[in-house]
Amino acid sequence: MIKEKNKKKPQTQPTFPQYKVEEVAPEVYCITAFGNVGFIVTDEGVVVVDTAVHQMGEMIRNDIRKITDKPIHSVIYTHGHYDHAFGVSALLKDAEERGDPRPRIIAHENVVRRFNRYQELQSQQEFINRIQFSVPEGTTAVPKEYYYPDVTYHDRFSFRLGELTFELRFGMGETDDATWIWIPEKRIVFSGDFILWSFPNIGNPFKVQRYETEWAEALEQMASLHPEVLVPGHGPVIRGEKIQKVCLNTARALRYLHEEVVKRLNRGAWIEQILEEVQLPEDLAKKAYLAPIYGCPTFVIHGIHRRYAGWYDGNPSHLYPSKTTDIAKEVVNLAGGPEALLNRAKALKESGEVQLALHLVDFVLNNPETASLKDAHDLKAGLLQTRADAEPSFISRNILLNSASRERQIARGAK
Ligand SMILES: [Zn+2]
Repeated sequence: MIKEKNKKKPQTQPTFPQYKVEEVAPEVYCITAFGNVGFIVTDEGVVVVDTAVHQMGEMIRNDIRKITDKPIHSVIYTHGHYDHAFGVSALLKDAEERGDPRPRIIAHENVVRRFNRYQELQSQQEFINRIQFSVPEGTTAVPKEYYYPDVTYHDRFSFRLGELTFELRFGMGETDDATWIWIPEKRIVFSGDFILWSFPNIGNPFKVQRYETEWAEALEQMASLHPEVLVPGHGPVIRGEKIQKVCLNTARALRYLHEEVVKRLNRGAWIEQILEEVQLPEDLAKKAYLAPIYGCPTFVIHGIHRRYAGWYDGNPSHLYPSKTTDIAKEVVNLAGGPEALLNRAKALKESGEVQLALHLVDFVLNNPETASLKDAHDLKAGLLQTRADAEPSFISRNILLNSASRERQIARGAK
């Protein structure tokens, strides 16, 4: 675990580069967007790898059309996330308006299951993505139109177009529906989110389980092909020897955390102890492409733990806990009222123990009799803001800032 006091904001955020179109090899292009879009121009048509978020579809269509007037033959989803599969509608419209045959959409068979799940949980997806990505109220956090694949596959799928071979390989990593693509004639890999210029995301506080060892396996397979160019799911294109380093060091980080968690589970350790003990080796923690700006080691440890163990934390008092409000009431009464807790929280804040201070304020806010105290809401807002300022992961930062602004709102209306 990277300790809070050591957490620093990275200088750059390579996961979110400026939008641009780049020719990465003859007739092969990458649009760095959110996420990246690849397109390959062959004599017989264009193959598009990913389509970014739905808001960027039109821009992507226009940029493809500035470079080629060949019809779009196939669109490959590297996985079914909102930032990869949903800009496709603009490309389908392009084909319709030009009178081209409808491009076929190719994806792993699990993309179908993902789209079904997203639709079943549409409102929950809207709710959590609004917080995770800090989407302002009044704008749509998740799209409502789904473009299912026309062609799905189980393990591998390949096709030829023009002079090129497109080899699609299934893998599990950030998702269970991932495809990465190898074009041997060009020695290019399109990795999808197996590489995203951030520490991998093995499931974050909002999301379902993801797959650390399978993620490492896919990266090792990519490296073994010795590609000359790798187009990642997010962030800048990687070339030459650097590809080996990025793939194999990311795989090493994932395998390391897996082994450390599993070793402790076998010793009978509980989650708190595992989080306290496991830290990423120093040399890996320093790599720019493993910066904890999206996923982070703490979330990965939680994710790996969740994969192999249940939610019980080892303390039987927590098996059927009392209501938080009842516990808070006892503690506030014992402290002789809210002032003692708030004063102590302020002192802790002054000495830099921000997290500990938050727990004390929570007793006051969780006690129904003191829950509306303006001072407590103000203090909590300030503490959350301080935590957010020191937080490199934008997922964590968005959670903290979202709650800080809610606390400020409540404080404005409180006594
Ligand atoms: Zn992505």
